[in-house]
Amino acid sequence: MESHAVTFKKVQSTISENVKLIVVSKTKPIAEIMEVYECGHRIFGENKAQELQEKYEYMPKDIEWHFIGHLQRNKVKYLTPFVSMIHSIDSLRLLKEINKSAKKENRTVDCLLQFFVAEEETKFGLDMDEARELLTSESFKKMENIRLCGVMGMATYTEDTTQVRREFAHLKNIFKEIKAEFFADSDFFKEISMGMTNDCQIAIEEGSTMVRIGSAIFGERNYSK
Ligand SMILES: *Cc1c(COP(=O)(O)O)cnc(C)c1O
Repeated sequence: MESHAVTFKKVQSTISENVKLIVVSKTKPIAEIMEVYECGHRIFGENKAQELQEKYEYMPKDIEWHFIGHLQRNKVKYLTPFVSMIHSIDSLRLLKEINKSAKKENRTVDCLLQFFVAEEETKFGLDMDEARELLTSESFKKMENIRLCGVMGMATYTEDTTQVRREFAHLKNIFKEIKAEFFADSDFFKEISMGMTNDCQIAIEEGSTMVRIGSAIFGERNYSK
């Protein structure tokens, strides 16, 4: 098998320079993640709060950690002291909890609204009505320790590239609508986090600004271990 340095560099060379590569290191041991770190990469993503907190503790402090998984409110406190961005905001209650916890830490946490754009019902995320309700709520307007930076979504896991493209285009449209309606004057609302190992090229063609890639770099994950 090729080293993670080699696979990382291969992946990196296929990602346009204006797209941020988030290396998804979930389930992978620190030694393997360090192979990518040693290549100079500093942006990593995890989907379990405690696993992320542990890796944060034991790994170099110049890493920018992104949280990309479904987040339970009682786990928020593990992340707010250090996390760079939370991609998976799917409710006002979650956002409230992050705001409260970030305030205690004297931090502002960058967040993305996760949208449900796939056909698979297992995926999480808001629809447009829920997002509007969140963004127009009084409690959202009062939040001072959250900065909303854009949207995130996952396409259906399918060979049907037309469908995948349609779902990413849909997310891009959601981004444009929300930007125009709520963030027209804000420079930081600019991110569209979409694209994983199997669909990142389509995502980039459809306007992704952040791709989240794991298995192309680390190989298939083994969850049974
Ligand atoms: C695991 C995961 C990824 C990375 O998936 P790969 O197919 O391994 O590239 C990206 N985004 C989210 C939300 C994930 O959970």
